Amino acid sequence: MRKLVSVQKIKNIQDIQGADKIQQAKVLGYHVVIKKGEFNDGDLVVYCETDTILPKDNPLFAFLEEKPIKTRKMRGVVAQGICFPVNILENYQQYKEGDIVTDLVNAKKYEPDFNNINNVEGDFPNWIPKTDETRVQDLEGVLKKYKNTECVITEKLDGSSITFWLDDNDELHVCSRNRIVDNNSCFYKIASQYKEGLKNIPRNIIIQGELVGTKIQSNKYKLNCKEIFAFNVRGFGDYFSFKQSVGLLKLANIPTVPILNNSYYLSDDVDELVQMSKGQSTLGNTPKEGIVIRPKRDIYVNNNYSFADGRLSFKVINPDFLLKYHL
Ligand code: ATP
Ligand code: MN
Repeated sequence: MRKLVSVQKIKNIQDIQGADKIQQAKVLGYHVVIKKGEFNDGDLVVYCETDTILPKDNPLFAFLEEKPIKTRKMRGVVAQGICFPVNILENYQQYKEGDIVTDLVNAKKYEPDFNNINNVEGDFPNWIPKTDETRVQDLEGVLKKYKNTECVITEKLDGSSITFWLDDNDELHVCSRNRIVDNNSCFYKIASQYKEGLKNIPRNIIIQGELVGTKIQSNKYKLNCKEIFAFNVRGFGDYFSFKQSVGLLKLANIPTVPILNNSYYLSDDVDELVQMSKGQSTLGNTPKEGIVIRPKRDIYVNNNYSFADGRLSFKVINPDFLLKYHL
């Protein structure tokens, strides 16, 4: 779950060359732009992440016109999110760094199209973790702790999450990001193409991947069909290791998401990781959405970061992608 709006400390406040009204600063691992002199290093702020929609009936937020907060580039600085002084909160003295105040300011998340999928059979099974990934900017502490851990970097593809498996009776089960779908769904039809391959591996192995191609997320890679690229393989209990997953997917003839580096030693520098997320997609002539980084040997952590099943894994979104698609 995204925090959206939380109380955070602002740090690294710096002037921007040639700009006399604004300054840059950092909140968590995000860069932000603020009015010059509005804050001092270490001040508590109400930090609103990108995709937050703030209510316009609150005069403090009216200037945003209930439009979602987006990534912007100002004087060469890629800015993500907006800071307000902490004293916009009633009884602001009672809040501390990290407190989530989304409901307090009546903020909502901007959710484009997604959830309106046809041919729904029910909710996503509660015994399978969803495929969400945490943002690197929220993980500065985790990066420090796991610095130099050997990791695998895959390309983050911009499509739609799909989960599927074959049961003991060779019956196929298919889920979209948030629902289980019936066999008239386009998700079901695409997954069916991989049914024969799934028969080469044991039953009840759950494949999670990204469905990309025609009519999905405006087909940024300009593919001429729909395809699935897998990024998770699990039993009913837990994930298979990276090595086992690659082996099983090969047997099942299901491609993996593009593997960009299978022996990367983790840096704890968020900006450096963001640099690494830039560049063209492996699939087509367009900037990649980003990368997903995971330890090569899974690490399970006690979970304050909403890692799926507690497994360390995170995304680094390419700012050039966000700017290009106005996100
Ligand atoms: P946010 O609210 O942070 O924008 P979101 O709900 O929009 O998150 P995404 O930004 O789409 O989620 O990031 C997580 C999704 O990325 C996963 O659900 C998965 O479908 C997709 N994904 C694409 N490529 C990969 C990959 N290589 N590894 C893991 N997940 C991937
Ligand atoms: Mn997203």
